[in-house]
Amino acid sequence: MKKIVTKFGGSSLADAGQFRKVKEILGLDPARTYVVPSAPGRRFAGDEKVTDLLYRVFAQREAGEDWRETFDKVAARYLEIAEELCLTLDLPAALDEVCEAIAGGAGRDFCASRGEYLNGMLLANYLGWRFMDAAKVVYFDDRGLFESEKTNVVMMALLADGVPTVVPGFYGSMPDGGVETFARGGSDITGAIVARAVSADTYENWTDVSGFLMADPRIVKNPREISAITYAELRELSYMGASVLHEDAMFPVHKVGIPTIIRNTNNPEHPGTLISLHLPVEPTQPTITGIAGRKGFSVVAVEKAMMNVELGFGRKVLQVFEEAGISFEHMPSGIDSISVVVAGDALAPHREEIVTRIADLTQPDTLVIHDNMSIIATVGRGMVNNCGTAARLLSAMSRAGVNVRMIDQGSSELSIIVGVDDADFEKTIEAIYTEFVG
Ligand code: ASP
Repeated sequence: MKKIVTKFGGSSLADAGQFRKVKEILGLDPARTYVVPSAPGRRFAGDEKVTDLLYRVFAQREAGEDWRETFDKVAARYLEIAEELCLTLDLPAALDEVCEAIAGGAGRDFCASRGEYLNGMLLANYLGWRFMDAAKVVYFDDRGLFESEKTNVVMMALLADGVPTVVPGFYGSMPDGGVETFARGGSDITGAIVARAVSADTYENWTDVSGFLMADPRIVKNPREISAITYAELRELSYMGASVLHEDAMFPVHKVGIPTIIRNTNNPEHPGTLISLHLPVEPTQPTITGIAGRKGFSVVAVEKAMMNVELGFGRKVLQVFEEAGISFEHMPSGIDSISVVVAGDALAPHREEIVTRIADLTQPDTLVIHDNMSIIATVGRGMVNNCGTAARLLSAMSRAGVNVRMIDQGSSELSIIVGVDDADFEKTIEAIYTEFVG
């Protein structure tokens, strides 16, 4: 039988009305047999997410401040949902247990994880489904790194009976039994892990937007929606994707070829965006799938004559960044130069040390840092078969009066990355969008 794993984000489960929508969506397709919920999110502008409140509870307790009032706000969110939906579980007892654990010194991750834990209990009760505590099926090692294979084996066995189950997102357990969480937004990852464990046909990620747009709507007016995108393209567009889907949520499902669909709980008729391993290049679709970028990069440009024949030059330059704990974003190079593009805020505290160390190790002719640079990725599986994409992109930028500071095309021909001054960021995205989409 077909199996669909659904994950519902915080805004999809923010109150009783949203719970009702979720139940309705699940009822529309009997293949939807596994649900991964987030903690209740914001109900209105200015509202607080339960997870944020729980982090505050922890911080207040650590600071010796009164945390009970904040915890009461958390409790009130769940009590209101339970009451409105006439749930039968003993929620006061579950809340007391959490409160006692916090009073007894529970850790930061445990506190945060209770948002998903309690929401999962409510949802399971409301649906009449089995509740499976994620601490029993999602594992981290003692350094807090996710253990994907162990998790997969255990989860696969426990979910093999096909019983409709709710597995709360965001957390798991360490070998000592302590609770550990993924990074913020990590319920997306749990959803993907469950999809892999049950060999789902589809992983549906229900949120409050109808999928991805080709460009940021704050920059491009009414950008087109992306109906289908490959995992590789989305990875290249990670500057855009991260706000809709946690980046690490792609790996468990990508690896085994399960497609992900981004759907909107508040607009369930909309087909959303399909993310798949392979997709045909339709003749009617634009050459590009999307454009995304980010401001605030710095470029460390190192020049040295005959660099190309100096063995180990590149390694030494990169070693300096590694020693400082800074990962690099791109590294375009010329015959006598290497430029390392890094996030400006990551570089800032290490500036002096990086300059001195590169100078010591490589004796460059020049070493210059350019700040305030934007990186813009134009991505499309259609580029491979289309001659002249780079030419069109660069001419569009030149017509818009933008100076290209850097250009980098991956060997997969899936993306063209340009670096421009932060001041030209919006102008560049608009120019590229207009050239390829109109
Ligand atoms: N509740 C967690 C957060 O706010 C995890 C999630 O919603 O995915 O980050």
